[in-house]
Amino acid sequence: MGTSEELFDRAVKVIPGGVNSPVRAYGAIGMAPRFIDRADGCYIYDVDGKEYVDYIDSWGPMILGHNFPEVKESVLKACEKGLSFGCATAIEVEMAEFICDHIPHVDMVRMVNSGTEAVMSAVRVARGFTGKNKIIKFAGCYHGHSDAMLVSAGSGVMTSGVPDSAGVPKGCTEDTMTAVYNDLDSVRALMEQADGQTAAVIVEAVGANMGVVPPKKGFLEGLRKLCDEYGALLIFDEVITGFRLAFGGAAEYFGVTPDLVTYGKIIGAGMPVGAYGGRREIMELVSPVGKVYQAGTLSGNPIAMAAGLTQLKYLYEHQEIYKDLEEKGKRLYGGMEKILAEKNLPYHINHVSSLGSLFFTEQEVVDYTSAKSSDTKAFSEYFKGMLAQGIHMAPSQFEAMFLSVAHTDEIIDQTLEAVRNYFTK
Ligand code: PMP
Repeated sequence: MGTSEELFDRAVKVIPGGVNSPVRAYGAIGMAPRFIDRADGCYIYDVDGKEYVDYIDSWGPMILGHNFPEVKESVLKACEKGLSFGCATAIEVEMAEFICDHIPHVDMVRMVNSGTEAVMSAVRVARGFTGKNKIIKFAGCYHGHSDAMLVSAGSGVMTSGVPDSAGVPKGCTEDTMTAVYNDLDSVRALMEQADGQTAAVIVEAVGANMGVVPPKKGFLEGLRKLCDEYGALLIFDEVITGFRLAFGGAAEYFGVTPDLVTYGKIIGAGMPVGAYGGRREIMELVSPVGKVYQAGTLSGNPIAMAAGLTQLKYLYEHQEIYKDLEEKGKRLYGGMEKILAEKNLPYHINHVSSLGSLFFTEQEVVDYTSAKSSDTKAFSEYFKGMLAQGIHMAPSQFEAMFLSVAHTDEIIDQTLEAVRNYFTK
C-alpha cells in the first residue's frame, strides 16, 4: 500500500493536488496528508500504522463515531439485495416519512447525493416559488461548489485564499449578493438594493466554514423577520448542523423556522447523501409534479438510505445524545479556553455544542473579516503539534472540530493534555 508520503507522491500525478476534495490537502501545513486506512469509534488509523483521535469525523457525518455497529449492519444487509435500482424503493418512503414526521418545518423532502446538490436545488426551488432571482448569502458561509454559491465562500475556498473560482461565468453569480454574517443591517441594505427581487436568504445558522461562528442573539430571528417583510424565503443550510445541534438541527436549537432546509453529512451516516425539504406548497413545485426540474440517477440509493435512516432513527430514539454532546463540547472547548487563560494567550475559542474552533487571533470572531484576522501560520504549527501527539483535526484554521458520541470524557481530557503540552513548549 505504501506510506502516506509514497501515496501522496503517486496521487499528485493522477489526482489534482493529490486529493478528491481540497480540504483534505495539507497545503498550508506543508506536508503530505495522512492517508487513512480505517477508523473505529473516535479513532482513525493511517496507512503508516499510527492511531489518532479523530476530530474531523468525515466532516460531520460520524456523529455516532466511526464504524457504528447498527449502521454498518444495515449497510451490509442492504448490499445483499443489490447496490442500486434507479427505481422507487420502500426505504425512500420510510426515510422521507421519518424526516417529515419528526421535523416540524419539513412537510416534503427530496433526496440528493451531496450538500452541494441540496443547496443548488433548494435555491432553484426558492427562485421558482418566488419568481425572483436574487439570493443573499453571507461572506464566509460555504454552501457547496455550485456556481452561484462560489462567492465569498468559506471552507476550502477560504483556506486556499481564492475569493471566487475561475470557470464561473459572471452571469452565474450576478444574482448572488453577499451580506456580513451577524449583521442584519447589511442584509436589509441588500434587500433594499434588490428592490423586492430577493428570492431567498441562505445561511449557515451556525457558521462552520470560516471556523465556528455562532449567530449573535437575535440574528436568526432578525433574518426571519426581514425575509417575511421583503417576501423572500429563508433557507437554513443545515448540512453541518442538521441532526447535530438537536434532532431538528439549528432550527430547533435556536427556535427559528426556515422555509426550506438543506441537509447532508449526518443524513447519510457517511454515505453520499444530501436532502432538501420544507413547506408543502414550496416543495410541490419540484419535478415531476412541479415546474422546477431536479433529478438524480443515484438519488435515494438503497444502501445510502439504509445507513442514513438507521443513524437518524438511532439519534431520534436516543435524544439524550444531544445533551451529552453539549456537555462534551463544554468539556473540550471550555477546557481549551481555560488553558489559553492559564497560559495568558490572547486567542479565541468559539463553540456551539459539539462544534468548535480555536482562532489564532486576538479579535472576537463574529464574521468573515474577524475570522480572517487569524494567524494561519500559528494554526499550522499548532496543527502539526497536535498531530504529533495523536490528535487528528482539520488542517485548516477555517474548519470546525467535530465531537462525536464516541469521544469519551477520558479521551477529551487526553486531548486537553495535548493542547496544554503544545502551549507549554
Ligand atoms: N453546506 C454546508 C454548510 C457545508 O458545510 C457543506 C460541506 N462541508 C456543503 C454545503 C456542501 O456539501 P458537500 O460537500 O456534501 O457537497
